[in-house]
Amino acid sequence: MPAPITLPDLGDTSLTVDQERPPQEPDFNAIQRNVSDKSYAALTGPNGDFAVPTMEELGLKPATTSQRGGETLALASLASIISDKTYTATFEKPKTAPTAFSPQATTLLSPHMHFGSLSCREFYWRVQDVVNSYPKGKASTPPVSLTGQLLFRDMYFGAQAPLGHAFAQTYSNPAIRFVPWHLPSKINPSNNLITGEYAIDNPKAETWFQRWKYGRTGFPWIDALMRQLRQEGWIHHLGRHAVACFLTRGGCYVDWERGAEVFEKWLIDHETACNVGNWQWLSCTAFYSQFYRCYSPVAFPQKWDKDGEFVRHFVPELARYDRKFIYEPWKAPIVDQKKWGCVVRGDGGVEEGKLDERLEEEDGYRVYPKPMFDFPQRREICIQGIKKAYQVGLRGNDSKVLDGTWRALFEDSDEGPTEGRAGPPGAMIADDYVNMDDPLEGKEVMEGVGLDRNEGVEEVNAGREVDEESRRKGTQHKRKPDKGQQMTLDAVVVKRVKR
Ligand SMILES: Cc1cc2nc3c(=O)[nH]c(=O)nc-3n(C[C@H](O)[C@H](O)[C@H](O)COP(=O)(O)OP(=O)(O)OC[C@H]3O[C@@H](n4cnc5c(N)ncnc54)[C@H](O)[C@@H]3O)c2cc1C
Repeated sequence: MPAPITLPDLGDTSLTVDQERPPQEPDFNAIQRNVSDKSYAALTGPNGDFAVPTMEELGLKPATTSQRGGETLALASLASIISDKTYTATFEKPKTAPTAFSPQATTLLSPHMHFGSLSCREFYWRVQDVVNSYPKGKASTPPVSLTGQLLFRDMYFGAQAPLGHAFAQTYSNPAIRFVPWHLPSKINPSNNLITGEYAIDNPKAETWFQRWKYGRTGFPWIDALMRQLRQEGWIHHLGRHAVACFLTRGGCYVDWERGAEVFEKWLIDHETACNVGNWQWLSCTAFYSQFYRCYSPVAFPQKWDKDGEFVRHFVPELARYDRKFIYEPWKAPIVDQKKWGCVVRGDGGVEEGKLDERLEEEDGYRVYPKPMFDFPQRREICIQGIKKAYQVGLRGNDSKVLDGTWRALFEDSDEGPTEGRAGPPGAMIADDYVNMDDPLEGKEVMEGVGLDRNEGVEEVNAGREVDEESRRKGTQHKRKPDKGQQMTLDAVVVKRVKR
């Protein structure tokens, strides 16, 4: 019997059934929508045709990234890459430019690896075949080669495997160095896991963090990268190095966990093991320890892109700046700033709460913020801070980190929330810590602000007067709980599993 070549007409497919709508709250995708979700309007779909709903029908905002998904595309990309045998066989990661964006200098296959549209085995062996057929001794080798990159990926999965949830946090993690960063994670003492919220120990650090996140630091190289992240969901590996170093040990001294959360939210290739592992590497808390080697937001990009094409693309307000000032626009004479249509002024919208919006023009000129701090000065403070943390030499699971007595090993004046001799677990701020198991103890801690909390702590404090200055500093650390933090869906799911 010949096979049919057409499907029979289904006739009238309209259904009239009572539809009970499932509860609409909580709606974790609400932040991704600009109009309401129409996909549940009827059982047969918004158009009554059983079709898969479109992005518009789901009410989702249009994608800002130019990256597209799917296995067909992934395999075509891989085929195109390996067809260039020299590129594939002689790939050396440190020689690829973080400033290249159209096209980028590396494979950009990471989103496909994340979504499963490309198998890492397929990727590895197709590359290895090219290497094997290349003239002997001429191909690059791990760790810098292309297969070396895939080995890094596996290394982080391997590091995560024995630790589970503890891998993604400092508290209770035996594999990571303890550093008293600003904006420490809040900890749930009943299960020793971070809660997904953080304490604001220092308002300045919170401002730096927000300015970093929204690409308003006043350092064009950092801002261009962070805007690329938000727009494209991807940045080159060395670009990730630059922004991660800047936020942690090379500028802001902010907890790497804050940075990892932002990457988790915005990276389209987000992979917990790789993200967390690399943040630990860059913050010199695990995998890497040369903390005195910091990335300059001026000299480093100049090495790759003297004309600042990357900055001009992602920070268009600086597009007309002379190459001499493209990485340090605040140094340009004001007449030139005006000539190039953009003045360097203000704090990037912090005061008006407009970090997330385009800055308003002033006197007909576009506005780019002043640098948020003196970089060489901050780098030095950070290096001294982390040097001290290395000398103290605690790991995340040290009993002193777990019970908060690590503070006695630091000077009050050391960088980070180091005041007092004891306090709540980890680097939490007393105000933010309430022991759910013991409301009375929680109250005591709330009032104690970094002072004695239990017998062990009293022993540590014996013979030490708590002077007025410490008290004053302690009070400075009384911050209102952070608000407006949006949890990603991943974080919510993880938190539920943890509970
Ligand atoms: C702070 C920070 C956070 C990061 N977060 C992630 C993340 O969430 N997900 C992620 O896949 N990578 C992450 N990386 C690693 C790396 O930056 C990306 O894998 C890489 O830039 C992806 O681009 P590509 O596909 O062009 O890489 P290529 O250079 O072409 O490498 C090929 C593949 O090897 C893997 N790979 C390369 N470098 C690394 C590395 N250092 N660690 C782990 N895998 C690597 C990726 O799967 C990548 O697709 C992070 C790096 C840093 C510094």
